[in-house]
Amino acid sequence: MSGHSGTGGRRALITGITSQDGAYLAALLLDKGYRVTGTLRPGGTPISAAWRLAEMGLTGRVTSVTVDLTDARAVSWLLDDHAPDEIYHLAAHSSVHSSFHVPAETFASNAVSTTNLLEVIRTRHPEARFYHASTSEMFGDAPEVPQRETTLFRPRSPYAVAKVAAHQMTTLYRLAYGLFCVNGILFNHESPLRGPEFVTAKIVRRLVRWQGGAEDAPITLGRLDARRDWGYAGDYVRGMWSMLQAGAPDDYVLASGCTWSVRDFVGLTAQTLGLRLEWRGKGTAETAIDLDSGRTCVTVDAALFRPAEVGELRGDSGLARERLGWSPTVDLPALVAMMVAAEKARQAAASASIKG
Ligand code: NDP
Repeated sequence: MSGHSGTGGRRALITGITSQDGAYLAALLLDKGYRVTGTLRPGGTPISAAWRLAEMGLTGRVTSVTVDLTDARAVSWLLDDHAPDEIYHLAAHSSVHSSFHVPAETFASNAVSTTNLLEVIRTRHPEARFYHASTSEMFGDAPEVPQRETTLFRPRSPYAVAKVAAHQMTTLYRLAYGLFCVNGILFNHESPLRGPEFVTAKIVRRLVRWQGGAEDAPITLGRLDARRDWGYAGDYVRGMWSMLQAGAPDDYVLASGCTWSVRDFVGLTAQTLGLRLEWRGKGTAETAIDLDSGRTCVTVDAALFRPAEVGELRGDSGLARERLGWSPTVDLPALVAMMVAAEKARQAAASASIKG
């Protein structure tokens, strides 16, 4: 890998510092000697409640600023004040499911904010390097599997449509103005810091409670057959950083290359916890029975199905492997073990604090 070297004292701006990726990326950049500033959104998580930064021991080590990224003037002031060398644009309405309920807000948050940042970089800070958080969801139901940088986008949610717009705008600014702007097309990545509204974190949290006897209501899930390419967030933020250190800007897929179904994820989590589950029935009548208690542990709720489904999302990260030397280090069973251990520790600490 070539490009600029020596990161000590460099300034990084992370939009959406309270995100899962924001916390892992901030830790990586601080370790490398960067000065890190992160944005918060008005009405969003305040820095005092940024639990991911707290769990990583980063509170107080980053500067935070509250800014509405859909406001072009505010974005201009932000970049003038902080003059970042590298900008990692992670802030977004990030839930596919809820994007169907707030499509216009999703579009503004994800597409307009990106355009504002690019325009201020073009007019006032052309030396800054810019990373945009693109997503495998942009491929939607693309017939090509695995998906790579050249695969056509067929987005199937307001979230994905907005991300395609932001992605294309980022590419346009690179091509039209010669700016160092890149898209990381990241497949699903999880960690102990994954938001509780996402299916993996929901499965882990509820099954840990189930095993500890704190939960007896069945866990309701959407499509059990949905297959995803899941990786570890810690690996993926390393890839983001590498993209901005490269000799020339380009777009890269980061993926594990393996897919597992949601049913597989439940099975791996149960196995890690020593629960014996048996699947019975089909379609929306499918359930998982806890063989030790005889109780129904998982059910399917059609209300959780997406209005438009995506196909098999499996990524080919050959380009990132070849040019950036990037590869994932954590497979799904190891990732599940990591998430289960962290969730057990969290629940034990919570119950100790209630008792104490
Ligand atoms: P999270 O869901 O953990 O966090 C989202 C971040 O965006 C938070 O800082 C949140 O702030 C902020 N945010 C939420 N809604 C809005 C909004 N309407 N306007 C502006 N900011 C908002 O994100 P991840 O760490 O999972 O993902 C980081 C980025 O990478 C996102 O852009 C996501 O779309 C993208 N991505 C993620 C993948 C994944 O598997 N994790 C895969 C591919 C792409 P607050 O705390 O105030 O809610």
